[in-house]
Amino acid sequence: MPDSNVRIRLASPDLGEEECEAVYRVLRSGVLTNGPENEAFAQEFADRHRVRFGVTFCTGTAALNAMLLAEGIGPGDEVIVPSMTFVATATSVCHVGATPVFADIDPRTFNLDAASVAARITQATRAVMTVHYAGQPGDLDGLARVCAAAGVPLLEDAAQAAGAEYRGRPVGAFGRSAMFSFTPSKNITTGEGGIVLTDDPDVAKRLRLLRNHGQTGLYRHESLGHNWRLTEMQAAIGRVQLGKLDGILERKRLIAESLTRRLTGVPGLTTPYQVPDTRGTWMLYTCLLPGIRDQVLADLLDQGIEARIYFPPVHRQPVFAERAGGTGLAAPLPVTEAVAEAMLSLPVHHRLTEAEVAEIADAVITAVGRASASAKVTARPMPVGAR
Ligand SMILES: *Cc1c(COP(=O)(O)O)cnc(C)c1O
Repeated sequence: MPDSNVRIRLASPDLGEEECEAVYRVLRSGVLTNGPENEAFAQEFADRHRVRFGVTFCTGTAALNAMLLAEGIGPGDEVIVPSMTFVATATSVCHVGATPVFADIDPRTFNLDAASVAARITQATRAVMTVHYAGQPGDLDGLARVCAAAGVPLLEDAAQAAGAEYRGRPVGAFGRSAMFSFTPSKNITTGEGGIVLTDDPDVAKRLRLLRNHGQTGLYRHESLGHNWRLTEMQAAIGRVQLGKLDGILERKRLIAESLTRRLTGVPGLTTPYQVPDTRGTWMLYTCLLPGIRDQVLADLLDQGIEARIYFPPVHRQPVFAERAGGTGLAAPLPVTEAVAEAMLSLPVHHRLTEAEVAEIADAVITAVGRASASAKVTARPMPVGAR
């Protein structure tokens, strides 16, 4: 947890009077769940991403579980996922009884590498789940080709990617279905919450049943389901937040560009790569600092700048280390490992002032300078006899 020394935080949700008013409106209406706010939020979010159907969920993780169940994925099935992601991408596969198979990533975008995915496809593969790291779409054309050749669907864990675009088209429609999260670290939030988008009416129907106890009429339960509903208060907040999305993304893009301008050319540091003809969401601003990352991180925290490693790779987590040895789980992931050793995410939230952006960049430059100086001393000790 960040300590009180931190002056500049990683994330800062944009919640104001409008969200408060929306919650009051719902509370006064007396309809707290299963109501019009959920229907409206789902449709508005789907429209924004040019997808036909949206089904809201109480968390992004529940939405991921529902997306896999709606695809009919279960025991004996394999789902190819990146290890460079939040743990839920992979654990949701386990929760439906299937096996996550980790594929390696592109060293520039940290998104799935299509060739590595192709190499992990087996007879048991039922889906490929891509993650848009930091909200930047990866090689969606390459993944679509691999999936088509193997006859398996592409699914999107678009948790970080609300509003992102790939070749002029919003994410969310590249996979057969796509999940988004509204937990507070994301660009827009409902406190907790998630949604699945799909163009397929059958998938949408199954998602609704999964969310609400398989209920098709009052106390008529056609299939196995859960209570994975989002409250009406949260859906109402989500509608206000969705209206702010483009402004937040535009402000973050300017901040990220300013950071990149200030940090380009700093020896030992690589600024985030941008895929041509895409629009990311700058959920994260992730640099590479091979050999000096840990020192730079400690230095930044000392200087009051909150920085963090997003993410320690999932396949290294104890929960998966114990499952290694299964199908493909233990396969090497050299790019993921190398990136994980070097990556560091800096604050990039939309409330940062230009002065704070300058302060972050100056702190990074100072920290990198100090770390490189001491790294050189360690790597190349003074020859004996030299002064
Ligand atoms: C945030 C996130 C999730 C989980 O979403 P929750 O709403 O926190 O359950 C899943 N996958 C990725 C890539 C995420 O960033």
